[in-house]
Amino acid sequence: MALTELKIKVERVGESAVSKVDWENLAFGKVFTDHMLMMDYADGSWQEPQVLPFQDIPMHPAMSSIHYGQAIFEGLKAYRHPNGKVSIFRPDMNAKRFNESAERMCMPQVPEDLFVELVRKLVEVDQAWVSSLEGHSLYIRPYMFATDHWVGIKPSETYKFMILLSPVGTYYSELVRVKIEPHYTRAARGGVGRAKAAGNYGASLYPAKFAQDQGYHQLVWTDAKEHKFIEESGTMNILFVIDDVLITPSEEEDTILRGVTKRSIIELAQHWGIKVEERKISVEEVINAAKSGRLQDAFGAGTAATLAQIALIGHEGTDYHLPPVETRTVSNRLKAYLSGLKIGQSDDIFNWNYFV
Ligand SMILES: *Cc1c(COP(=O)(O)O)cnc(C)c1O
Repeated sequence: MALTELKIKVERVGESAVSKVDWENLAFGKVFTDHMLMMDYADGSWQEPQVLPFQDIPMHPAMSSIHYGQAIFEGLKAYRHPNGKVSIFRPDMNAKRFNESAERMCMPQVPEDLFVELVRKLVEVDQAWVSSLEGHSLYIRPYMFATDHWVGIKPSETYKFMILLSPVGTYYSELVRVKIEPHYTRAARGGVGRAKAAGNYGASLYPAKFAQDQGYHQLVWTDAKEHKFIEESGTMNILFVIDDVLITPSEEEDTILRGVTKRSIIELAQHWGIKVEERKISVEEVINAAKSGRLQDAFGAGTAATLAQIALIGHEGTDYHLPPVETRTVSNRLKAYLSGLKIGQSDDIFNWNYFV
């Protein structure tokens, strides 16, 4: 379907629920906007997309995604600028990654320009939900799942592509405490770690719960084979600053999710003349740097929190504390630039804001 002939059917709610939102007490991902977007895949092609009042969807008990997990998603955000305009951060990157996830899971492609236009359209319809309160944004959740009515293991022939919108406040208020995972695995080589596939998150809950019981917020995932190399932190990418070099695990292997936030951070840091290394980084290297006071900074990067600075890293029963947050020049500068950019207060040097 060419974008020029794209028709999106819009069925609006009678009365918006936006005035009933308790903006000061927004729990992440629990409040949804008035509308949602739905588009079915059948007979080898995408059918007409529709914007509908937010509602339950009927489900066949044998719907294949809930049995065999052909389900993928994306996460991005829209922001309100002081001049009233609404922008979305780099939606083209999410469109591209969505299709990479789809390919890995034997699901159909959503043309990138169509993906971006559907996101834009839904945000436009529900733009009253993009709050101008500090730290607030509209979380956008595009997803696709298999809908065949058949308990048989093969790629489904029918799918639903949907988008939900959820207004969110500030994600993490405190610095995060992380623990290096010595046993459990998020992703193995040849697996689906690079895809934003639903099952990856289901599988991470059990080990994450142990870490939370021990007082940590999140795990630092290590390689599946030896647990010697650092991969990600929770559902974020991870970056370190050691001896003034910004270091992050390379994406060459298919165990690491290719984050839009991390890529943006790398592009910015390089632009600013900060030395960046994307390479293997061992647990030993990080712990030795922490012990000798050379670990200047460590932080997670992802759409939900943007940048989550790490307070301490737990490893083999010892907690290694990081320097005070005021001294973290790299992450503080990145954080200030990115939060300013999304509301039009930093110069958009790379054209990352996509206006609705
Ligand atoms: C979504 C996600 C990230 C962060 O990606 P962004 O595009 O920056 O939001 C990192 N790791 C995992 C496992 C993720 O699911």
